[in-house]
Amino acid sequence: MFGCVLRKMRWKRNGARRSVCTRQPEVRVRFAPSPTGFLHLGGLRTALYNYLFAKQRGGALILRLEDTDRVRLIPGAADAIEDMLEWAGIPPDESSRRGGHYGPYVQSERLQLYSQAASSLLHTGHAYYCFCTNQRLELLKREAQRSGHVPRYDNRCRHLQPERIQEKLALGIPHVVRFRLDAGAEPFQDLVFGWTRHEVAAVEGDPVILKADGFPTYHLASVVDDHHMCISHVLRGSEWLISTAKHLQLFAALRWSPPAYAHLPLLLNRDGSKLSKRQGDIFIQHFREQGVLPETLLDLVTHAGSGFNNNRIGRRLDELIQEFNISKITTHSALLDLDKLDEFNRVHLQRRIEDQQMCVELWEELRQRLLQTHGSDISDRAVLEPHYIQRVLQLRKGHICSLRELLDHSYSYLWIRPHVSLQQLKDVSAEAAVIAVAVIQLVGAGGSFSSTEQLNRELKLMASRLNTKYSSVMRVLRLALSAQQKGPSVAEMMLSLGEQEVCVRLQKALDLTNDSICVE
Ligand code: GLU
Repeated sequence: MFGCVLRKMRWKRNGARRSVCTRQPEVRVRFAPSPTGFLHLGGLRTALYNYLFAKQRGGALILRLEDTDRVRLIPGAADAIEDMLEWAGIPPDESSRRGGHYGPYVQSERLQLYSQAASSLLHTGHAYYCFCTNQRLELLKREAQRSGHVPRYDNRCRHLQPERIQEKLALGIPHVVRFRLDAGAEPFQDLVFGWTRHEVAAVEGDPVILKADGFPTYHLASVVDDHHMCISHVLRGSEWLISTAKHLQLFAALRWSPPAYAHLPLLLNRDGSKLSKRQGDIFIQHFREQGVLPETLLDLVTHAGSGFNNNRIGRRLDELIQEFNISKITTHSALLDLDKLDEFNRVHLQRRIEDQQMCVELWEELRQRLLQTHGSDISDRAVLEPHYIQRVLQLRKGHICSLRELLDHSYSYLWIRPHVSLQQLKDVSAEAAVIAVAVIQLVGAGGSFSSTEQLNRELKLMASRLNTKYSSVMRVLRLALSAQQKGPSVAEMMLSLGEQEVCVRLQKALDLTNDSICVE
């Protein structure tokens, strides 16, 4: 199971000699994306399950870039994938960027290993040169389609005489290398799907393993790398389940021990439709730009699927590692409910706010964003201080889904003194001035700013003392303090702004003898 090149030992099983690791088995898993696109939720989930599996067992996660499809490469995608893993908090232990003992970690830099493996397979008769032209292959395909069959290569070059092969090679005729599939595939035990058997030779022609340009195909490259990188377990999408029979035949032909396999069921939309990459809204970068927290995404994609004894919202990475149970992964598709994104983000933002260290980071982030959004409109720089911002966060936690919400117009009163005319206040209540004076006195007397409940109690008492409706007091205060008619509770607004600022805003309103003079 633990194929390795470090120290090889030979052992016999069914007459085959295989090389295996002699050192203690170590868990090594890999996330092997093709840099033909950016990281999306499906890829993040595969990477995450690999990460959880590795970390739970003190193992290592390897990031291997499978860039052998040169035509579909997207510049910058490789770097962006690793950036996103780092942002998500699940960085690989080994990669081109991080280094490691099993590099290079990019397939296009490992061509020699693939050609060595192909040569060895040619040598042992497990592979053969194929000189069929594209024209012939196209013809085969069209004939199959016409007769309602699945197109497959007819293995013609399997039967070429050695002299003919030499001749063609000497003439420099373009060729590929194909792997000779054996009939009678062995069953294997997938850690998720259980015993699985796929009669690959009965449904497919011999696959190309080395292309005419000398690049390997995915099948050869992944087997060679899984071996040389000492991969112990392959956790990958279930779309690869039927390829595993082919991979196992390659391992056997190369006399290498295969890793264990666990195929992860597909990740689908809640309604069972395929996650669409077209609208760009399943890419991790997009979520990041929207202010979604990394732990929200990790929680959401694991919540969608199985792999845990129970499902609950709000698990952070350390809890995911602790609670992950590979035997709980079921074979049916995981349904992702993106409508729950806000709910998940609210829970995780609250957890961050409650964590002292993380709250400091949130302050710094919000401060930067406030400067970008409101900049010179902020006349009182005290609103950028940690104690002010952290107080706002503590009061708003559980209500806001993202820091960005606090940049909205509806929250601008927190950062900028609003402009309210006295007439506006009077329109709300004829007793606006009396109310404002009474609140200034109440605040000045101190003691009422300990909690929203306490403040509410005092405001209610005050309203009855003034023989005024409590609702009028609330509406006057809300307008005077925020220039808004909706928002958080008035008591919360007052606590956020602080005694002094509440007094300043009310005082300014009272000082106005002419309507529509700026409160500032
Ligand atoms: N390069 C393949 C992909 O992007 C990896 C498949 C595997 O993990 O073996 O899906």
